[in-house]
Amino acid sequence: MKKGLLIIISGPSGVGKGTVRRKVMEDTSLNLAYSVSMTTRAPRKKEVDGVDYFFVSAAEFQRNIDEGGFLEWAEFVGNRYGTPKSYVEKLRNEGKNVILEIEVEGAKQVLRQFPGDELTSIFLIPPSFEELEARIRRRRSEPEAIIQERLNKARREMNLKYQYRFIVLNDDVDRAAAEIIDIIHSRINTVTYR
Ligand code: 5GP
Repeated sequence: MKKGLLIIISGPSGVGKGTVRRKVMEDTSLNLAYSVSMTTRAPRKKEVDGVDYFFVSAAEFQRNIDEGGFLEWAEFVGNRYGTPKSYVEKLRNEGKNVILEIEVEGAKQVLRQFPGDELTSIFLIPPSFEELEARIRRRRSEPEAIIQERLNKARREMNLKYQYRFIVLNDDVDRAAAEIIDIIHSRINTVTYR
């Protein structure tokens, strides 16, 4: 069986990674699986353990780091987030095309580990910075200091886009998702592994 693709969708906080990723995953012809991350963040309303994240304690997260269990991990606004390595490998070996939806520090680590053609890296950009700020504020689930921190971080993160193979503008969720679906289709047909 052909090993599945490794796909990263990254981009600044608030760009709409989650919404676009969920839209992309509605396309069942792509044989996609979402890599559920581990986090020390508390669950938000409606979030389900094992579906949105594996919610763990700081101690359990640290244990996973010590055991080399993460493909990548990063600290983001006071919490830790990481991609369980064995879970991703298992899915790919089953032929699934695995999507990681992660912030840019973690994505950097994956880009370094897969410098060749194996990784399908996609960077989402907002139509403008004003739009990004509006999206972050619309969530309204965080104090102003945290929002400012997310905005500063987002400003710096925009400079990293050229490290990615594909840059996709999220001007409209359906359009951006359709573009990513096209990218994945073409990669399914062209990427081979030695
Ligand atoms: P949130 O707290 O809003 O769910 O996520 C905060 C940020 O962490 C988002 O940009 C999200 O994409 C990112 N993130 C989620 N899971 C992971 C992960 O496993 N690794 C890394 N590096 N970032 C993640």
